[in-house]
Amino acid sequence: MQILRSSILFLSFSFLVFFSSASSSAPENFLQCLLRHSPPSYPIAPAIFTPNNASYSSVLETYIRNLRFNTSTTPKPFLILTALHESHVKVAILCARIHNLQMKIRSGGHDYEGVSYVSDVVPFFVLDMFNLREITVDAKTETAWVQTGATLGEVYYRVAEKNKSYGFPAGVCPTVGVGGHFGGGGYGNMMRKHGLSVDQIIDAKIIDVNGKLLDRKAMGEDLFWAIIGGGGSSFGVVVAYKIRMVRVPERVTVFRVQRTLEQNELTEIVDEWQQVAHVIDNDLFIRVTFDVVNGTDKEKKTLRATFIALFLGDSGRLLFVINNSFPKLGLKKSDCIEMSWLQSVLFWTNFPLEYYT
Ligand SMILES: Cc1cc2nc3c(=O)[nH]c(=O)nc-3n(C[C@H](O)[C@H](O)[C@H](O)COP(=O)(O)OP(=O)(O)OC[C@H]3O[C@@H](n4cnc5c(N)ncnc54)[C@H](O)[C@@H]3O)c2cc1C
Repeated sequence: MQILRSSILFLSFSFLVFFSSASSSAPENFLQCLLRHSPPSYPIAPAIFTPNNASYSSVLETYIRNLRFNTSTTPKPFLILTALHESHVKVAILCARIHNLQMKIRSGGHDYEGVSYVSDVVPFFVLDMFNLREITVDAKTETAWVQTGATLGEVYYRVAEKNKSYGFPAGVCPTVGVGGHFGGGGYGNMMRKHGLSVDQIIDAKIIDVNGKLLDRKAMGEDLFWAIIGGGGSSFGVVVAYKIRMVRVPERVTVFRVQRTLEQNELTEIVDEWQQVAHVIDNDLFIRVTFDVVNGTDKEKKTLRATFIALFLGDSGRLLFVINNSFPKLGLKKSDCIEMSWLQSVLFWTNFPLEYYT
C-alpha cells in the first residue's frame, strides 16, 4: 500500500514537472518559431520585445490608454510583437496556434476594458499594430487604404491633406485606433449626415486563423460584415480597411456654449434639444455634456450643460437653422467659429484655438 501511494505521488510529481516545464517553455518555443519562420527579407527580431528588453515597458505602456490596467498586478504579456510587415502578423498567428498561446491584438489601445493588452489566460503575447499605420489616399476614386495601426487623427489628416473638401466620419477622439474603431462601427459628429465609419468601408484585408491574407472578395460577405461591426468577437487580424471619403465644405462652423441651471432655463433648453437633436438639419450635430460647478454664490453648486456642435456649412445658415429649430439655446453670431473641417477635429478635442486658427 505504502509502495503504491509513493508510486502515485511520484507519478503525479512527474506529470506536474512535465506539464509545468512544457508550459513554461511554450513562450521560448514560440519565440524560436517566430525567428525561424519569418522571411529573411523582413527580419522579425527588431520587432520582438520581451521583459528582458530595456524598451519592453515603454512599448507596452505607450498604448495603454486605461491606467486601471497598468498596475503591478495587471497580467503582462511575455512578449510584444510590433509587426513591421504583414508577414510578421502571419507568422505570429501560425506560431501561436502551434504553441497554443493566447494572442492579443492591439491597434490604438483604447479598449475600455484593456482587452487588447490584458488577458486572464496566461501566458499571452501582444501583437501590436502601431508600425502598420500607412494611409494611401487615391483622389481619383475618392478612396483610401488605411492600415489598422493608424489613429483616427492620422486618417483625418491624410484625407484632408489631399483635398480640403474630403473628410471621413468617425470618432471624435483622434488617438483612437482604426483597428478597434472600424471593427466596432465607429460613430462621430458626422454620423447624422454620413452614418457610421463602417457605412463608408468598402474593402478590407484580414489575415485569418490559417495565416491566409484575404480581401473582401476572398473572405466573402459574411466575414466582411462581421469585421465591420457585425460580430462581437475576433475573426482574425485586420491589416487594412479601404474607406470611401466623404465630401465636406471647405469651411464648417463650430460652437461650444455653456448654460447653467442657476442662470438659464436649462431644463427647457435641454428638453428642446432632446426634441430636435435627431430631426434638425442633418448638417448639424450637437452634443451635450453635463457637469456640476460652483454657482455665483460659491457655497452653492449648480448644474452646467455644455453644447458642442459641428455644422457642415457657414455660420449664417447655422444661425438660421438654430433660430428656427432650437431657439431656446439663444445662439449668437459671436458664438460661431468658421474653420476647416480638419481644424474642427481639434476644436472637438478641446485644443486651444490659438494652436490652429
Ligand atoms: C477616449 C476614448 C474616446 C472614444 N471615442 C469614441 C467615439 O467618438 N466614437 C466611437 O465610436 N467610439 C469611441 N471610443 C471607443 C473606441 O472606438 C473603441 O474602444 C475601439 O475599439 C478602440 O479601438 P483601438 O484600436 O484604439 O483599441 P484597441 O484596444 O487596440 O482594440 C480594441 C479591440 O479591437 C481589437 N482589435 C484592434 N485592432 C485589431 C485588428 N487590427 N484586427 C482585429 N482586431 C483588432 C482588439 O483586440 C480589441 O478587442 C472611444 C474610446 C476612448 C477610450
